Amino acid sequence: MNRQQLVVADDTVVQIDYTLTLVDGEVYDSSAESGPLEYLHGHEQLIPGLEAALAGMRAGESKEVVVTPDVGYGEYDPEAVELVPYDAIPSEMDLEVGMTIDLYDEENEQEIEAQVAEIGDDGVVLDLNHPLAGETLHFSVKVIGVRDATAEEIAHGHAHGEDDDH
Ligand code: ZN
Repeated sequence: MNRQQLVVADDTVVQIDYTLTLVDGEVYDSSAESGPLEYLHGHEQLIPGLEAALAGMRAGESKEVVVTPDVGYGEYDPEAVELVPYDAIPSEMDLEVGMTIDLYDEENEQEIEAQVAEIGDDGVVLDLNHPLAGETLHFSVKVIGVRDATAEEIAHGHAHGEDDDH
């Protein structure tokens, strides 16, 4: 099959170049340094607003996409902020406002990222919101390639790169 004719659809593996710019003009992230991003379409690997915009595109096509928080990283939740006493934090940790630390959420059994919002007298204020919560995101995307996913990729729910060993 001619890969040029494939369109981005569920169970295709898509390679994109992208630049993510925030409302204030700051370039937050870009594939320019890391190389194209490869993902399995239709398996919630991207935020919903970006994934929906890519559906139906072909290799070589570009698009400007504006993603609002409801289809991005969610609204900012002012309740998702916690004061953590110093004795609950490993002493070897060098804390700095703005840094991201990994926490283990025992209730949901998953790793979450928290941002150090404040270093106070009684402890550290951690912001558990995603760093991009509440942000309207502007993506400049270009589809580099589209191919059918393998049965294994579909079963795993992610794309396998060239040097993937499983
Ligand atoms: Zn896998």
